[in-house]
Amino acid sequence: MRVARLEKDGREDFYLLEEGVARRFSGSPFAGGTADGPPVPWTTADLRAPVRPSKIICVGRNYAAHAKELGHDVPKEPLLFLKPPSSVIGPGGVVLLPPESERVEHEAELTIVIGKRVRRVAREHALEAVYGYTVACDVTARDLQKKDGQWARAKGFDTFCPIGPWIETSLDPKDVRVGCTVDGQTRQDGRTSVMIFDVATVIAYVSNAFTLEPGDLILTGTPDGVGPLVDGSRLVVYVEGIGELAVTCRKA
Ligand code: ZN
Repeated sequence: MRVARLEKDGREDFYLLEEGVARRFSGSPFAGGTADGPPVPWTTADLRAPVRPSKIICVGRNYAAHAKELGHDVPKEPLLFLKPPSSVIGPGGVVLLPPESERVEHEAELTIVIGKRVRRVAREHALEAVYGYTVACDVTARDLQKKDGQWARAKGFDTFCPIGPWIETSLDPKDVRVGCTVDGQTRQDGRTSVMIFDVATVIAYVSNAFTLEPGDLILTGTPDGVGPLVDGSRLVVYVEGIGELAVTCRKA
């Protein structure tokens, strides 16, 4: 099923999306809330970021071809970094290109939405912590990533984590297309089957460091083909079986 956050009459809530209509959840879908509201019409303009994460954990260099294009070796264990919750924007949002960077790039990523609290979960039980999956762009100021050494600023500017358009709860993430277009031109088009560390491995590894809370996000890395975003770029990020997340870019 598709679970989204919609803004209706000035308030934002979780909704179950059905054919042409949406039903509001009575409570948090992560805490057993059910979508028993009356069916209401909705449009893409109503979509907001599908979740408000307490934290956003990212896996770097999880596709060999992408590690190679940046001149890095393939990591022996997952390489983790964080993006702040303040970097989240939703479908139709605007990525603000900061004056501190001359090279902001897109990274299309399959994204795990955590559904229950876990800590040090074993790999064989890791998928039980998954509520569903969404699409994200790990927007990166590539020049600052190199300059700073630490990645907090390069990956963490406001608006640098577009997510959406909704959460798909029934996806099998083993082998789906993930990529993006910029102004209609294909930039990235990979498959999750070549990820170095799969979803279960990543969740188990991450949970050894951080308690995962419902609504937390794990971005699972990007295929090759990363490239620049400039003032006016129209970015569409997709994951097969979930949908398309469209945003625009503008100089801050
Ligand atoms: Zn990334």
